[in-house]
Amino acid sequence: MKKILSVVGARPNFMKIAPIMRALDAYGSDVQQTLVHTGQHFDEKMSDVFFRELELPKPDEHLGVSGGSHAVQTARIMLEFEPVILKHQPDWLVVVGDVNSTVACSLVASKIGVPIAHVEAGLRSRDNTMPEEINRKVTDAISDLLLTPSPDGDANLIAEGVSADRIHCVGNVMIDSLIRALPKIEQSEILSTLSLTAGGFVLATLHRPSNVDDPQMLGQLIAALNEVATTLPVVFPVHPRTRSRLQSEGIELADGIRMVDPLGYFDFMGLMRSAKVVMTDSGGVQEETTYLGVTCLTVRPNTERPITISEGTNRLVQPGKDTLLAAWNEVQTNPPKRNCPKLWDGKAAERIAAKLVQSGS
Ligand code: UDP
Repeated sequence: MKKILSVVGARPNFMKIAPIMRALDAYGSDVQQTLVHTGQHFDEKMSDVFFRELELPKPDEHLGVSGGSHAVQTARIMLEFEPVILKHQPDWLVVVGDVNSTVACSLVASKIGVPIAHVEAGLRSRDNTMPEEINRKVTDAISDLLLTPSPDGDANLIAEGVSADRIHCVGNVMIDSLIRALPKIEQSEILSTLSLTAGGFVLATLHRPSNVDDPQMLGQLIAALNEVATTLPVVFPVHPRTRSRLQSEGIELADGIRMVDPLGYFDFMGLMRSAKVVMTDSGGVQEETTYLGVTCLTVRPNTERPITISEGTNRLVQPGKDTLLAAWNEVQTNPPKRNCPKLWDGKAAERIAAKLVQSGS
């Protein structure tokens, strides 16, 4: 029997771990699973709704660590996680993505000799000012099984000297969740709730520190959204970090912007599939829009997900008011075309589960 301990911490983790746990469940008594929630995101809108909608099991362990600087949060997760992993003695630690929980739990496991499988390995923005880039590089450096979503991930790891036998291109596990949830997403009533029509609105999300922590930059991006909102309504589900910055800086939103709280997965994806254009700085949203064939303007100087540009509907926009408005004008007449990247087929988690069950201790 294999003992597999999976970690979730923040919103983007839930849609990645849910299909993996489901695929491992198919092995019945050959696999014993444990789920640890670090508590990085902990409330109804950033965590609980995803447990319900994605049918995640209740966490076996909750570390209750939220807030704090990066160092404080990472250190506290490490302190709380060590006795938990020692208690459960798993054969594999499964971590996903690039949040502080990912790197903190990986560091703990590596020092006590528990093999680590990193899902979404190999992504690189080559921008060390992004905290996520540091988390990705450190986690990959100490992981035993590097499970990549696309071939660019493999190439990055090979270029860094990782031996090929540790790297497996398994596809995109986030798209597994999306494909499974599509019937529920199609039933979402969010368009009528917000009095919107399909193709008649823009969906915007912003939460990267480089965009929202600098008041001048946040002001410019909101000024651009205010101008877009003179043509089409802009739905803006606001991340808690962004809301507090908007309030503290007194930045005003135009009437055409529908500022709402963070949405559950079905409603958020219900909006995304019907949006004319999505404007974002999110990682996952770049992939989801590519799968759905919806035009995405990513307000960042770089992306760790270049396949969403080369094959998908994503375009990078240098952060700023004029650049965002220019890109908005451009994509209305010339929307990017889409090819679905290989292995974004709803079966990534099955491939991951098979690797975990077959390999290692
Ligand atoms: N999401 C959601 N509701 C929202 C915003 C996002 O359900 O209001 C989902 C969506 O699937 C997205 C994921 O949460 O891909 C992760 O979003 P986030 O932008 O927080 O994280 P990132 O991918 O940038 O790490």
